[in-house]
Amino acid sequence: MNDNKVGVISKVAGPLIIAKGMTGVKMYDVVRVSDKRLIGEVIELRGDRASIQVYEETAGLGPGEPVYQTGEALSVELGPGLIESIFDGIQRPLSVIYDQEGDKIPLGIDVPKLNRDKVWNFKKVAKVGDEVVGGDILGEVVETKAVLHKIMVPPTLKGKVTWIYEGEAKVEDTIAKIVDEKGKEISLNMIQRWPVRIRRPYTKKLAPTQPMVTGQRVIDTLFPIAIGGIAAIPGPFGSGKTVVQHQLAKWADADIVIFVGCGERGNEMTDVLMEFPELVDAKTGDTIMKRTVLIANTSNMPVAAREASIYTGITIAEYYRDMGYKVAVMADSTSRWAEALREMSSRLEEMPGEEGYPAYLSSRLAEFYERAGIVQCLGSEGRQGAVSAIGAVSPPGGDTSEPVSQATLRIVKVFWGLSATLAYRRHFPAIDWLKSYSLYDDVLQEYFDKNVKKDWSKQVAMAHNILQQEAKLNEIVRLVGADSLEFQDRLTLEVARSIREDYLHQIAFHDVDTFTSLNKQYGMLNLILTWYKLGQDALNNNVGFQQITKMKVIENIGRMKYVAEKDFDNQLKVVQEELAKEYQELAKGGQQ
Ligand code: ADP
Repeated sequence: MNDNKVGVISKVAGPLIIAKGMTGVKMYDVVRVSDKRLIGEVIELRGDRASIQVYEETAGLGPGEPVYQTGEALSVELGPGLIESIFDGIQRPLSVIYDQEGDKIPLGIDVPKLNRDKVWNFKKVAKVGDEVVGGDILGEVVETKAVLHKIMVPPTLKGKVTWIYEGEAKVEDTIAKIVDEKGKEISLNMIQRWPVRIRRPYTKKLAPTQPMVTGQRVIDTLFPIAIGGIAAIPGPFGSGKTVVQHQLAKWADADIVIFVGCGERGNEMTDVLMEFPELVDAKTGDTIMKRTVLIANTSNMPVAAREASIYTGITIAEYYRDMGYKVAVMADSTSRWAEALREMSSRLEEMPGEEGYPAYLSSRLAEFYERAGIVQCLGSEGRQGAVSAIGAVSPPGGDTSEPVSQATLRIVKVFWGLSATLAYRRHFPAIDWLKSYSLYDDVLQEYFDKNVKKDWSKQVAMAHNILQQEAKLNEIVRLVGADSLEFQDRLTLEVARSIREDYLHQIAFHDVDTFTSLNKQYGMLNLILTWYKLGQDALNNNVGFQQITKMKVIENIGRMKYVAEKDFDNQLKVVQEELAKEYQELAKGGQQ
């Protein structure tokens, strides 16, 4: 730390302070403000005048007090001990601070971001004499029973291993020595420091080709997200946003989950902190925290820390991606984050854009989402890793025409629009099938056709089509009543109801229904559509409409979602046969 360079506060405006005499300071450098040593970050520079956003309460500060430069950018510490941690927006370990200090964070507190005392068992992978480059794996540490942490050569280093350790070590202990290309010997420990506003490098970005299976039928079937994809969930309060995010954390095909909570009210965050450890991980049977990092902004932290939190989150995500993992980052909510940006911008007296948000709102949002993706990681191994990003948006009054929703929609490729009306009708997940979309559809449908069933995409197109027809037919029904419709159309309404109630509706809290494999998703939908096709034929053969809609098999079709995965294929056969038989009886003219 370079404490010699000292500036002087000239103005304090809430979380923003202006300091003079800041020669040599760089954008996004961290400074310590006043003798309370509050943490701040330089966000604007004019000559030797710096605007600093302060991450702690600035009450009591005044002009004339010193500002100390550290010469470092706002950075995170990356290494064993991240998983299971709860950090604030600038990676201060909240649980450690709580244990030491109680529920108020003392100003200017210096607590190491990663636990310095914990002993890890370092197992070497590299050997003395190995030529290594950034990203190569030096060794491994069992971080939790769900995560094997790879200790990597830092991105910019290249050289020859001259010494490597094996055995118990703390994060600051030297575990390897490397002689770089200039002949300089460098000792490495298990910590990497990385500036949060700069993306971690990779060898190559790849095009997403595989779905991130979530087990949520409306998502996987109608609006799938790719591994390395980006999605937004906008939703008004009570529309089931939290449950969707929990379901994704629990079930989505991701090795690591990073949850960034930018809550406005303290109690929202408390809920997350209480609920997450309670979630049981389907993969391990243990708490989901064994593969989760939580980043939470507490209510007594100024807005500025909210702004930093999503960068802290995505940087940690990139670090695990670099190890070759599939990481899912969830940010809840980016609206609160954007409000922090707006507040800082207005204090900087910048020219306001739409609804007071700064003109760079879109580019800042894009900078976050663009750090997601599937990549070939650094290192000679050529492994792949991915960060998938899911941002919740909470527009005031649920109106998605406001700037944050609009800017987000221009960036993300998947949109799961939650609907208050559906939630009110207790249709969960309340993802509106008419408003939502997935731009990964093309490549993913190809994947599904190849890897699940060859007519997957045809079937999905048909389901989409039926749901759209339902919306149109409902308009007519509203105007002139259902009786005016042709029987074929009334059958379409029936099958649409079945798709909604028996397929899309999925209860998160039901042991079996909570997750549906792709095989089961295909089978369930196939059954509904088969019933529809046979029904259409039956109508053409003059079978009565009532008889089709009263078929006994319908009840069993509706129960398929509760059939356990292991029994599903058998039960599917049983119901398929029942359907065929009942239909044959109808077709035989059994209109007794
Ligand atoms: P939000 O976070 O949008 O305010 P929540 O996620 O807390 O809303 O959901 C509100 C309530 O809706 C939940 O407590 C739950 O009862 C119900 N709910 C939401 N999603 C589901 C689901 N998939 N299955 C069953 N119930 C759900």
